[in-house]
Amino acid sequence: MNSFITEELERINAAGLKRAMRVVTGTQGPSVTVDGREAVLLCSNDYLGLANHPLVKEAAKRAIDRYGFGAGASRLVSGNMEPHAELEERIRRFKGTGAALLFNSGYQTNIGLISALSDRSTAVFSDRLNHASIVDACRLSFAGVHRYPNRDVDSLERLLKKSAAKNKLIVTDGVFSMDGSIAPLKEIAGLLDRHNALLIVDDAHATGVLGKTGRGTPEHLGVTHPSVIHMGTLGKALGSFGAYVAGSKSLIELLISKARPFIYTTALPPSMASASIAAFDVMENEPSLRDKLWENVEFFKRGLPEGIETLGSPTQIIPIVVGDASRTMEISKNLLEKGVFIQGIRPPTVPEKTSRLRVTITAAHGSEDLRKALAAIKEELAR
Ligand SMILES: *Cc1c(COP(=O)(O)O)cnc(C)c1O
Repeated sequence: MNSFITEELERINAAGLKRAMRVVTGTQGPSVTVDGREAVLLCSNDYLGLANHPLVKEAAKRAIDRYGFGAGASRLVSGNMEPHAELEERIRRFKGTGAALLFNSGYQTNIGLISALSDRSTAVFSDRLNHASIVDACRLSFAGVHRYPNRDVDSLERLLKKSAAKNKLIVTDGVFSMDGSIAPLKEIAGLLDRHNALLIVDDAHATGVLGKTGRGTPEHLGVTHPSVIHMGTLGKALGSFGAYVAGSKSLIELLISKARPFIYTTALPPSMASASIAAFDVMENEPSLRDKLWENVEFFKRGLPEGIETLGSPTQIIPIVVGDASRTMEISKNLLEKGVFIQGIRPPTVPEKTSRLRVTITAAHGSEDLRKALAAIKEELAR
C-alpha cells in the first residue's frame, strides 16, 4: 500500500509540528468554553467583539427569513443577490474607492487578486513575512516573485531598480499577522510612481481597527496614493465572514472577468452579507469600541513582566516570543489549564526558533480577564 500519508504524518510529528483543533462550545467572546473548560480567550481576531453582537445576529436572522439560506450558484450565474451588491456599495464608500468586490474569504481574495494582476511579464515584490495566502497566490501566479526582508524599503527599492519587468506589483500585509508590526506604507507608496508599480495592502488585521475611523493602515499612516489596492477580510474585526478588494472601477471589472476564486465558487450566503452590513453599522456608530480596544492593549502591555520579547508590537497583536516550538506548546497547554487560552504559533507559520504565544486583545475583554491572563503568563514564563 502507498505509505505517503503515514510517512508525512510521522515526519510532521517528529518535527513537533503536528496540529490539532480544540472545540469551543457556545459563543465566541472574551471568554469561551474550550474542551469543556472556561477560559479567557486571547487568540481570537474578533477584535471589536462583533461575532456575537445582537445587531449582527439579528441582521443575519432577518436576512435568512427574507432571502433563505444558500445562494445556490456563483455570483456570475444566478447567485448574485441584493445583500451582496449592497455590501459592496458599503465597502466602496468605507474605503473611498471607485468600486469594491466581495470574495468568499481573504485567502481566496489574495489568490484571485494577485493572479489576476499577473502575467509572465509581471514581477511581484512580496514582504518575507506576508501571510500564507499571499505566498500561495505568488506561487499560483505566472509572475516572477521577489521576496524582500520584512519592512525593508531600501531592499525593496533595490529589487525594483534591478527588475526589467514590464508590470510591477508590490504586496504587503498592513499589519503583520504574527508580529503585530505595521508596514511602512508611506515609504513604499513613495516608490510607486518612479517604478510605475501597483501596491496591494492586505489589511486583514487593520480593517475596523487602525485609523481614526477604522479604515485601516492607509488611514492610520495617511496614505492616499491612487495606485494602492485595498484588500481586507470581514472575518476578523467585523466578526462576520467573507472578504473584499476595493480599488478603481476598472480593477474591479478586471477581477469580475478574471479572478478565478471569484468566478468559480458559490456566492456567500446572503445572510452573511447582511450580517457584515450590520457589523459596518456597529463599527461606524460605536467608535468607543476602538477606544476600548486600545485601552485594553495598553493595560495588557503595561502588565507584562519585564524583559519579555514582544518585538515592539504597536498593535492589538502581541507576540510573546518563546523560541522553542515544544516549550511554546507546553506553555500554551499549561495556560489553558489555568483558564487562559492563547494559541502557540510554530514554524512554518513563523520563522524557525521564533515560536511564540500570539496574544490578541479585543474590545470585549474586561480588566479582570486581562489581570487573570497576566498573572498566569507571569507564572508560566517564570518556570
Ligand atoms: C486572516 C488573513 C487572511 C485570510 O482572511 P480570511 O478571510 O480569514 O480567509 C489574509 N491575509 C492576512 C494577513 C490574514 O491575517
